[in-house]
Order: sequence, then structure tokens, then C-alpha cells
Amino acid sequence: MSQALKDNKIEEPQEKLIRRLCSILENYLERLQIDKVVAAYNYARLAHQGQFRKSGEAYICHPVSVAILLAEMRMDMHGIIAAILHDVIEDTRITKEEITFEFGELVAKLVDGVTKLTKIDGKSRAETQAENVRKMFLAMGVDLRVIMVKLADRLHNMQTLEAMPPPKKRRIARETMDIYVPIANRLNMNEMRHRLELLSFKSMYPLRYKILKQAVKKARGNRKEIIETIENSIKNRLNEVHLESDTVGREKNLPSIYKKMQRKKISFSDVFDVYAFRILVEEVDSCYRILGGVHDLYKPIPGRFKDYIALPKANGYQALHTILSGPYGVPIEIQIKTREMHRISESGIAAHWLYKDKSNRNFQAQANEWLRELLEIQQYAGNSLEFIENLKIDLFPQEIFIFTPQGSVIKLPRGATIVDFAYAVHTDIGTHCNSARIDKQLVSLQTPLENGVTVEVITTSWARPNATWLNYVVTAKARAGIRNYLKHFQQQEAIQLGQRLLEKELQDLGLSLNNIPQKREIQLLELMDMNSMDELLEDIGLGNKMPFLIAKQIKQDDIYAAVKLENNEGVKTPLTIKGTEGMVVALARCCHPIPGDHIMGYFNPGKGIVVHHHECNNSHDVRKKKTTWLDVEWSEDAGGDFSTGIRLEVMNQKGTLATIAAIISKMESNIENVNVVNQDDKVSVDLITLSVRNRIHLANIMRQLKKLPIVLKLTRIKA
Ligand code: MN
Repeated sequence: MSQALKDNKIEEPQEKLIRRLCSILENYLERLQIDKVVAAYNYARLAHQGQFRKSGEAYICHPVSVAILLAEMRMDMHGIIAAILHDVIEDTRITKEEITFEFGELVAKLVDGVTKLTKIDGKSRAETQAENVRKMFLAMGVDLRVIMVKLADRLHNMQTLEAMPPPKKRRIARETMDIYVPIANRLNMNEMRHRLELLSFKSMYPLRYKILKQAVKKARGNRKEIIETIENSIKNRLNEVHLESDTVGREKNLPSIYKKMQRKKISFSDVFDVYAFRILVEEVDSCYRILGGVHDLYKPIPGRFKDYIALPKANGYQALHTILSGPYGVPIEIQIKTREMHRISESGIAAHWLYKDKSNRNFQAQANEWLRELLEIQQYAGNSLEFIENLKIDLFPQEIFIFTPQGSVIKLPRGATIVDFAYAVHTDIGTHCNSARIDKQLVSLQTPLENGVTVEVITTSWARPNATWLNYVVTAKARAGIRNYLKHFQQQEAIQLGQRLLEKELQDLGLSLNNIPQKREIQLLELMDMNSMDELLEDIGLGNKMPFLIAKQIKQDDIYAAVKLENNEGVKTPLTIKGTEGMVVALARCCHPIPGDHIMGYFNPGKGIVVHHHECNNSHDVRKKKTTWLDVEWSEDAGGDFSTGIRLEVMNQKGTLATIAAIISKMESNIENVNVVNQDDKVSVDLITLSVRNRIHLANIMRQLKKLPIVLKLTRIKA
């Protein structure tokens, strides 16, 4: 390309746009500030090089157009630069850090804020979620410039929606209606609201838009005469009473005509045959005098007067509204307000630096002043509760809004962590949460959440709440959930342990907990005097009942005969014991069974198993109760000392007990107790409790004792 051609080339659209932006900025920014804006333009232009909008124009045209929309609202330099850079983080390789380096922390923060909002919009499809998404926006945009850049971004996207395929067009329009229009309304930016609303309506209902537009055009012609008549009589009337004012005819916009038709189920002409006027004055005082003037001119319709000056709307909107019965009986809607009120209702927050504040104070100070003034208006008006509540929620948020992976929005207090979120989704998710991903990054449970992130909770079946969680949860639901769990922790663990123990025993018998017929379960619980299976399992888990015994009881019923045959289990395997099981296996004190003995056990509720020698008299009684006894046998590796008892008839002479004790000691046994039960001159009957390793050990001891001449009779005590 030759130099001449380059110099004379046709101006690119983006160059035209930046020139226009600069010419608007010249009205209120310093030369130096405008230079910085141009520097940002060059930076963004390079960053977006090679990117194009759907319409075919260079991508940079979009951010510059957004900046122009904001410049028309007299956005400050930082806001304008943020607007120019608003898609750079999202769509190019440039990072927040680089923007900080080039344009400072404030601009970087604003761009980052807009990027986050961009990630959120369109995430949630559910209409019911719209209110939460709106709140999230407002909560995130603590710096109102972020919201304003986002609103302007959306407005420009709506203006250039034509290039999009119809389904996407409709979706974006719906989203604008659900999220951005209410935000603009909340900030009392009515001009922005009306523009967004009209564009959404046009994209969502192209045919209705067209028909309504034609209808309005046609009606406008018919109405012209009557509007002029009314306007003139109002003007004359107000001149008569010497009230300085502007009166303008007002036409409802298409979306509100449509909404009214739908809401009230009335025809177009019923909506449109209302003649609306706006009267603007300088002083608040004049509003009421004008009201008197127009009420004098036309008869007011009772019950239709609204004093939004004394009682402003939640977004700070102020005006007097009244409806009059006009000539030929047509209804006339009148709005009376000061010019200041009108500007504020058109631009909301933007009104401040647009018209009022000519000083160089920074944005936040102005925003704060705006908020304070709204508060003052409200306080002046008296009933300000709802308004202050709205303001608190929206602009000084104590709340954060978090996305689930499915796109639902969960509201949480500031400072909430993953655990709070998990419990907020569902108690089960809270109970089993193990870790989480925030925007795909793995994080730990105590991670505090930031507004607008997507959190995917990772649960595992074995994860359980623990007491330290209480240190980093802030919601009542999570706190209660954790406490509740900890309270029942022992119980649940016991039930699970009991279940495992019983299941294992049942498996050894070829059965399973799942296959126990309900009838049998009821029988079992009745027998055990238990109210529920959980109660029984808990008891097993706590060691109060032996799982193998319960398993056997389940099995011993005849209904399992078939199962037994199937598993070829004609011979019952006895339960093996070591005698060292502790509390749950007790050796009977009546017969003192020792390893090597034939033994049998019986179940003693609440105590476990008591093991008897099979010849013990007590065991005979137990055996009659079919369900509570079981076969047991000694384990081959049963070790340790076991108490047992012998009965001796010895000659009653000096030194007899010492001789016996010496033999027992020599045989590596200990006498635990000696009880002399009967004694005469010649014979003494002694019951001796001694400790032995097993039956053979005892037999050896007894053989040695029998050799003693003083021993007349020796027997083991078995009952
Ligand atoms: Mn954009």
C-alpha cells in the first residue's frame, strides 16, 4: 500500500467512532484524560485485532460504541476506559495484571468486575432465578460503574442484535428483559430501561412489535387534534394562574402498551385512548399548585391521584400522578414533577454527573451522595423501610449468590464457605461433602465463597461432618446439620458397625441381611424385645449382642431349611471362642469351662454369651430354650490362664493344705481360692479354685494330687 493511499484512505468505522467519543468527552474531560482514553483505545484495538463482530465490523467498534453510550451519560474517565477495555480479559490473552500495569488498579478492577458479570449473564436459563441473578449483579457491582458499563454493553448488543440467528436473538432479548431491564429500573435509569425494553420487545415479538407500531402511528394521526386541544387548555389555565411550566404530550412506549393490554386484557384502543401529559416545573411547591390548577380545569377521577413526591417509589422515583376526565370524556393522565425529578428519573445515578455536579469529585463520592440523597428523600417522606431494605440488599450487600452446576442460584450470607453452600443445596450433600470445585478449580471445604462463582460440591460416601466444620460455617442450616450429625454420630456408627458384623456372620451362613423376610425380621425383633432393626444393629455395634448369635437365630428358623440344603450345610459349624473376647464372652462361674472341654453357649440379653461346660446342670436348662443357645467350641489357639474348680476330700491333718499347694505350684498353676466346706476329725472337704492353661494341664495336676496318700477323693467341679 502506497503512502499516498494510506493517507487518503477512507476512514474506518472504528476511527469514526473514536473521533465521536472524543468530541463528546471534550465537553467534560480534560485534554490529558482524553489522551488516556485514546491510549486505551489503541491498546484495546491491538488486543482485539483480527476479531470481528457477527455484523462483520471490527470488534473494537463494539467497546467504543459502549463508551460513547456512557460518555453521553457523562461517565468519568475511569469508567470510559473500562468500557473500552471491557471485553479484553474475556476475549483476548490480556490479563487483569497487565491492565493494572497499563491503566492502574481502579480500571483493572472495573474491567474485572464487568468480566465477572459477563460470565454470569446467560448462565441461568430459569426465569424464576432472574431475581437472584439481578441481586447478584447488584451485589457484585458495588462500584456502580461496573453495572453501568454492563448495562451500556447490553444496550449496544441489543442495538446490534440483527446479525444474530433468531433463537439466540430471542434468548438474549429474554435475558435482557429478565435481568437488565429490572436493574436499570432499580437504579432509576429509565431512559436506559426504555431503550432496552423496546429492543427486547422488538426481538422477542417481531410481529406484535410491527402491528403495534403501525397501530400507534395510525392512532397518533387521529389523536393529534385532541392532544393539541387538551395541551392548549392546560397551558392557558396554567398561564392564568401564573405558574411557570412546560407541558408536553406523552405517548406510552410500545412495551408498556403491550404489557398493559396483556395485564388488563384490554384492546389496543382502550390502552392507547388515554391521553398523557407531563408538566415540568422548577420548584416542588409548584407541583402541588399545578395539581390544583389542572384539577380545577378537568374533573379528577377519584382514587387515581398518587403523591410520589411525598412517598417516592422504591427506586426513588418522584412525581404527582393524576387522571382527569377530559373533553368528550377521554381520560387524561398527568404527571407533574420538577425538572430535577425528571432528570433523575431518566438517568438515575447518571443524572448526578450529567447535570448537577460540575466539580471533579470522584465517582464513588458522587454515587454515595446519590444514595444518601435517595435516603433523605425517603426519610423525609416517612415510610422508608422498603426502600432502605432494597438499597441494602442491592448496593451494600450482605449476601452473595452462588451458582450450582445446573445454573440455579443459591443465596448465602457473606463469608459463607463450601460447607454452607453444600448444606444449602441439600442436607445430604452437606453431610457427605468432601471438597469442591470453584469454576473448575479444586478447593478445600473452608474456602470462603465469592459472589457469582459456580460451585460444584464433591461428595463421597464416606465423608462425614466433623466438629472443626463448626469453625467455618456461617449459616444456621449448616450449623444445625453438623450439630445434628455429631449428636447422632455414635449411634449411626454403631448401627453401621452392627450391620457390618451381622452381615459378615450371615454371609458365613450363606445368608444376607437383604434376604431376610420381613416376617422373620419381626419375629426376631419380638424375641429380642427390640423396636427396630436399627436398634438391634446399634446394640450389636455397641457390643451388647453377639452378631453370630443373631445370625444363628435368623438361620435357625425352619424357613431357612431350603437355604441350608442348597448350601449343603447339614452340619452346623459351632462358634469358635478363645475365651479372651472380653465382655461379650463370659465363662460360666458354675462350671468353669477351660480349653479342651466340651462346651456350649447361651445368649444372655445385654451381656453377650455365657459359656458353660456341656455337662453343667445349668446348660441342660438352657438347652430347652431352643432359640437362645448355640454350639460353641474352643479355638485351637485359645491361650492364657483359665479359672477352674476342683473338689478335694483330704485327710484332716497338719500340713495337708501346704502339701497340696506345693504340688499345684510345682505344676505351674496358682490357687485362686480355697473354701473349706466341711470338716470333721478325720476328713476335710475343700473346694479349690485354681488357674490352668487347659484341660490337659488340669488333668496333669489332678494326677499328681491323686498320688498323694492324704488325698482320698478328687473331682473336678462341673456345676
Ligand atoms: Mn461487550
